[in-house]
Amino acid sequence: SYIIDPSEYIESIIILFVVMMNALLGVFQENKAEKSLEALKKMSMPQAKVIRDGVIKQIDSALIVPGDILLCESGDYICADGRIIEYSNFKVDESSLTGESVSVNKNNLNLNDESLTLGDRKNCVFTSTFVTSGNAKILVTETGMNTEIGKIASLLLEKKEDKTPLQNKLDQIGRIIGIGAILICIVVFILEVISTKDYLESFKSAVSLAVAAIPEGLSTIVTVILAFGVQKMVSKKAIIKKLPAVETLGCASVVCSDKTGTLTENKMTVTKIFLKDNFIKDINKNITLNEKKLIDYFAICSDAVVYNNKKIGDPTEIALIEAANNFGDYLTTKYERIKDFPFDSDRKMMSVIIKMENKYIQITKGAPDAIIEISKNLLSIKDIYNANETMAKNALRVLAVSYKELDYIPSVITEKDMNFLGLVGMIDPARKEVKNAIKEAKMAGVNVVMVTGDHIITAKAIAKELGIIDDDKQAITSKELKNITDKQLNENIEKYNVYARVTPEDKVRIVKAWQNKGHIVAMTGDGVNDSPALKTADIGCAMGITGTDVSKEAASMILVDDNFATIISAIKEGRGIYDNIKKTVQYLLSSNIGEVITIFVASLLSVFAGFNFGIPLLPIHLLWINLVTDSLPAFALGLENVDEDVMKRKPRGKNENFFANGLGLTIIWQGVFIGIMTLVAYIIGNKQTHEIGMTMAFVTLSTIQLFHSFNVKSSKTIFDKQVFNNIYLWFSLIVGLILEFILIYSPTLRRIFKLEYLELKNILICFWLSFSIILIVEIIKFVKKQRNC
Ligand code: ADP
Ligand code: MG
Repeated sequence: SYIIDPSEYIESIIILFVVMMNALLGVFQENKAEKSLEALKKMSMPQAKVIRDGVIKQIDSALIVPGDILLCESGDYICADGRIIEYSNFKVDESSLTGESVSVNKNNLNLNDESLTLGDRKNCVFTSTFVTSGNAKILVTETGMNTEIGKIASLLLEKKEDKTPLQNKLDQIGRIIGIGAILICIVVFILEVISTKDYLESFKSAVSLAVAAIPEGLSTIVTVILAFGVQKMVSKKAIIKKLPAVETLGCASVVCSDKTGTLTENKMTVTKIFLKDNFIKDINKNITLNEKKLIDYFAICSDAVVYNNKKIGDPTEIALIEAANNFGDYLTTKYERIKDFPFDSDRKMMSVIIKMENKYIQITKGAPDAIIEISKNLLSIKDIYNANETMAKNALRVLAVSYKELDYIPSVITEKDMNFLGLVGMIDPARKEVKNAIKEAKMAGVNVVMVTGDHIITAKAIAKELGIIDDDKQAITSKELKNITDKQLNENIEKYNVYARVTPEDKVRIVKAWQNKGHIVAMTGDGVNDSPALKTADIGCAMGITGTDVSKEAASMILVDDNFATIISAIKEGRGIYDNIKKTVQYLLSSNIGEVITIFVASLLSVFAGFNFGIPLLPIHLLWINLVTDSLPAFALGLENVDEDVMKRKPRGKNENFFANGLGLTIIWQGVFIGIMTLVAYIIGNKQTHEIGMTMAFVTLSTIQLFHSFNVKSSKTIFDKQVFNNIYLWFSLIVGLILEFILIYSPTLRRIFKLEYLELKNILICFWLSFSIILIVEIIKFVKKQRNC
């Protein structure tokens, strides 16, 4: 009697193995999720412009080496330490290094004091700071860990990603269920001891219950779904920078979008010119000397670079340079740039001072209204306005240029007393896919708002073409906006869908006003000054192509292709991902409840009804079910395709409870149903032998869960072609069933798992009991559908 049954060992070993597999799977999945999120981070890493071998190149900022000449402009992150060689109006925010939040003026003067603090080294720039205005050429001296910030290496260690609100919520739910489960286990243990007086058996069933009840995979699986979703979004050109944004996207009810480049192609072509006292002319006619001067001045006052089919810089400026190039020898060789005052969206203009034929000339170009304001002796101001308006009405982007001759080089460029020269109009066609995206957004209950720096007439023309507005009253300029109090704006925010000539501060006001109305707002932005708006918005969207580093840093999502349609498809994905998380949680929790009910009710019946009932499922059975028939379909449900219908719903409320709309109740009744069917199978089998009872409970519980995953898959009937669109789910069904049969029909495994051979009759009983969950859910789906129609 001292001989120990070896199957007891094997059982323990298998339990250990299954538990370890479960943990490993979790770690593996989570690891993979983290890796893909890291890869995402790399994708949003800043690029840098350097001069190497005399050529301007755009490279990964990680590839900068000492000796490179770095070109920095407003909005760039500085990715190396270096000395300033040339600069213009160059200001840097060094708060990450010195804590000083006011931008510092930099220069290229020599410094002799050797004991200067970082903040006083005005002729150097440092990694991790960023340019707030102006531009500079920098000789790189140190990179990576040798930089000033690298020396304080701990600062470079990023803090661990926070969990999303939903993950926190699910963790919390998991904990509550876990505690509840332990309490129930204790109750079961006590009840069993009372009824059977067998401590070991009672302990076993308490352990079974614990295994059944604790929803171990909940948070892991959500992480994995989010990571997969985020990866899928990359293929749709949206890079998520902050994981919680995935959830917020599903709630978005307003999208405020830039016009230029986001709603339009940003492939501009100059088509019209206007010289004062003249008519608007097509540019492709024979060009006069004055017209040539106009186009050349525009090109000279541009920072974009166009050579050998390479185009670097602002598309507006690329268009201007290309226009000048079309008419032969534009003045590249005959002038020298002395100084400049870069463009920003507050001034809406930029200036350069050049030396040409021994004269100093300042050229200023920008929005026509801005240029008119700084021009003197305007004779035909009315003609200019008319010309501007005519071009704008045809959806052209209009720019003006002016100049003045200078006797000396001023220390600061002043933009006034200019001579107005003329206008150009350029087309920037609306993106083809945007019109449909706007339609889809409207259907999905998402308001679309155009926020542009362009002229109101151009803005309206394009907004109408795209279907954003149908009435002129829906458009407003920044000037009008300034005359409206915050309170009035809050009240009327829903009336405006186009904002023209906006400044970055206007954007913040617009976001806040929508938010005050309870909306969840996505806002696009590209400039340095857009950071506050991007941060204020619930979902800040930066531009992958034209966006500055600073705006990318502030954003929670980057649009790789700068495209408005990408925001809408991200919203769609966001809704789909949330749905998938819901499905997975519904599936996992209802399965868990089913398992708990089975064990708990069985032990209650043993104690109170006096049956000698026994335990329907051993810990090893439940572990197996958790590993195979819970996890596989749960992951598969997380990979479900986005249902086309998601864009026919209104956005989900931000504070909507995860278990709202009956999800909680559904989970409970479905769990109870699973439990009852399993018990019925057990009772039928138990009449033959206890082992047959256990085996039938095991087969029924695993099969009913596999079947149930197809119920959860969609709110539509499963007798529809949608049922075939997730091969992972079919894979999990087939693998689950095959493994189940191997367990029952392989004598060795059967012995180890303490199962019994089942006759066809018994198998059929299990099958029909399992299938009943499909029938009942189908009936409910049918009734719901009838009621909605
Ligand atoms: P958007 O690009 O949406 O029009 P911006 O704030 O970038 O908004 O530009 C505002 C206005 O400034 C434009 O409508 C145009 O008239 C003018 N502008 C844009 N880019 C330049 C530039 N590089 N140089 C001079 N003026 C510009
Ligand atoms: Mg712009």
